[in-house]
Amino acid sequence: MKEVKCTWCKTKDKKEEMKVEEKGTGKFNKNGTEKMVRKYFHKECEIEFIKDKEMKKKELVELDLLYSFLRDLHKIQFLDGRMMEKIQDLRNGTIKIDGRKINKYKQGVTYSLMLETYQYIQQKIDFILNSNQFKEKWNEFSYIFGTMVRNINTVQEAENRRVITEKINRNIKVDKETVEIEVKKTQKKDDLDISDFL
Ligand SMILES: [Zn+2]
Repeated sequence: MKEVKCTWCKTKDKKEEMKVEEKGTGKFNKNGTEKMVRKYFHKECEIEFIKDKEMKKKELVELDLLYSFLRDLHKIQFLDGRMMEKIQDLRNGTIKIDGRKINKYKQGVTYSLMLETYQYIQQKIDFILNSNQFKEKWNEFSYIFGTMVRNINTVQEAENRRVITEKINRNIKVDKETVEIEVKKTQKKDDLDISDFL
């Protein structure tokens, strides 16, 4: 029986048990049929794969927003490699031990939280920009980036509190709905009871 490799977990399994994702290549076989690329997945792995794809899409949008914000803030045309490295290291949660970088992947601060923090400290940033003369854009970027990093926890805590409050509110709403549905059910039952009498 033919085995194929799962695109997500890279283990092989029986072809019949795998889900397949087919895409046309725009190239054709001699007999006129289109050449296809096929990706095979375990059922659960396909779910993970789609989730990952969506997360990456969302990340791109968030990074784009952060990028434009920083370009405006520092009045620069683009963020250079050094600047992007700082952002990526914070996103990934890269740490330095004895001057050596330990690379991680997407375990750090999200782009949206960085942006939120920058916005949160806008007044501080204005003050910094007004009261300092930076030698280069890089110095200005690093200085403000450092200030942002030091304020992440404050914004994160506020965000956590907001999420908790939202959850509580949602639960209250759900409870109310449940009660309403139950009330309706009881009413229906009463109706029935009456008709039974008639
Ligand atoms: Zn798999």
